[in-house]
Amino acid sequence: MLSIYLHIPFCRRKCAYCDFFSVPGTGGRVDLYVKHLKHQLHLYQGDPRWQGPVDTVFFGGGTPSLISPTVVADLLQAIEDQYGWSERPEITLEANPETVDPDRLEGYRESGINRLSFGVQSLDSDQLEWLGRGHSNRQARKAVTQANEAGFDEISVDLIFGVPGQDRDFIGQELVEVAEWGITHLSCYGLTFEEGTPLQDRLSRGEVITLSEEEIAEQFLLIHRFLTRQGWDHYEISNYALPGHACRHNQAYWQRKPCLGLGAGAHSFVARGWGERWAVPASIETFETAMERREDPMECLERFHRKGAMNESAYLALRTRQGVDSEAFRRVFNSDLHTAYPTAFQHLENHLIHNSDHWAFKPESWLLYDHLVQEFL
Ligand code: SF4
Repeated sequence: MLSIYLHIPFCRRKCAYCDFFSVPGTGGRVDLYVKHLKHQLHLYQGDPRWQGPVDTVFFGGGTPSLISPTVVADLLQAIEDQYGWSERPEITLEANPETVDPDRLEGYRESGINRLSFGVQSLDSDQLEWLGRGHSNRQARKAVTQANEAGFDEISVDLIFGVPGQDRDFIGQELVEVAEWGITHLSCYGLTFEEGTPLQDRLSRGEVITLSEEEIAEQFLLIHRFLTRQGWDHYEISNYALPGHACRHNQAYWQRKPCLGLGAGAHSFVARGWGERWAVPASIETFETAMERREDPMECLERFHRKGAMNESAYLALRTRQGVDSEAFRRVFNSDLHTAYPTAFQHLENHLIHNSDHWAFKPESWLLYDHLVQEFL
């Protein structure tokens, strides 16, 4: 089974907190780029690194909803022709609320998209403006309603917590409202101040009063408690799903399954040997030049040795509620998890839970994930 990620690195404008690879772009620029995505796909026809059928496709960005349904249909047809589909493929498109309307959403559904992921981020107009988002709270509500009306059964919404000025009551109200939108998936990310972003500049000029670590931790746990009480599965640090609606594309990533990444900045995983990570450089010009010459734009970032693969398997699995499957670990690496990480198990005794032969972090320990997971590296 194969997963395919297509990176659409264009946005109408840049959000204040964003350090993802995306540039302002619309119209002809986007059309030319998308044509090259198809050229890149065709380069791998018969390439043993990636073999079908395709089980998940993810149009990520940037703002993939800037590309038209016709173009999406064309790309999906090219994927089908080259690899074929699994029995029930999951095909996701990330969308920004201000870029869609009923016709466009209907078009996406007809093109084969069966899952939408909306970048809502907040339901407060002041916060949306402060974050530099291009939509209002009204547009966000409308876009999700229209997606429901267009017949999408799988809808995900992204929210940001830890925004200065945000308090527990507001987050509670936001969750109550969003959970009633008829969605099946919610991603809740803590705001970060990344180097080189306008938000980081404001912070260094002393214009931002950030929330304390305790307040951010409280918000994380508030979201966890609220949603899990309502039957949502907190299946990964930042992700919640109603039962049976976890994002299979992301799960494939955390389980080190084969993934082909198309477009500038896209990453791939090749499941041969102990695994290989490849990436297209994050430059539209470099990507387009390679495509005009019909040259493979990918570079190998890492070929794993056994220990590296063990570490990556453990730390990716520890992002998830299911955690590391000890039996599968033993089967793949011919080593017991405790034997491989004796000090980690000593030091993290209070942070780990053991359930049906799986080891996972407690939800409250996910707050310290970056620090704790060092024990597995
Ligand atoms: S829409 Fe998404 S990718 Fe584009 S600038 Fe905003 S956060 Fe970044």
